[in-house]
Amino acid sequence: MTTTQSESKETLPKPMPRPESRGLTAPFWEAAKRHELVCQRCRQCSKWIFYPREQCPTCFSTDLEWAALSGRGRVFAFTIVQQPANRAFEPDVPYAYAIVQLDEGVRMPTNIVDCALDEIRVDMPVSVTFDDVAPEWTLVKFKPS
Ligand SMILES: [Zn+2]
Repeated sequence: MTTTQSESKETLPKPMPRPESRGLTAPFWEAAKRHELVCQRCRQCSKWIFYPREQCPTCFSTDLEWAALSGRGRVFAFTIVQQPANRAFEPDVPYAYAIVQLDEGVRMPTNIVDCALDEIRVDMPVSVTFDDVAPEWTLVKFKPS
């Protein structure tokens, strides 16, 4: 039996991409493993900062700290994924990819889980939940609250 290149690509296993828990992002992923949602905050101007950076994007201070977020927010934007960009996610389709705006103001890319996909709406209140994908890594997701 012969296989075309596209057929053989379809049978290749595709590993699930994993977040890099090192450097600037390590405190976020370590907290997620403990089922805590944390974010950087500037000690000079008190602004919350997401994604992690070396310097405050508002006042350019490097005096930053990690602090706990409320875990509450609202759906800022979402889409229902039918064809994932990465084939590792094919078993999960359809699923909701979303940007959630936390009560503290930061916006986070995530998934909306624990609800019917047709119930998801922009501005829907959500709260954090943690998906222990593997012993060494946990993903931050949100569910209706
Ligand atoms: Zn600042």
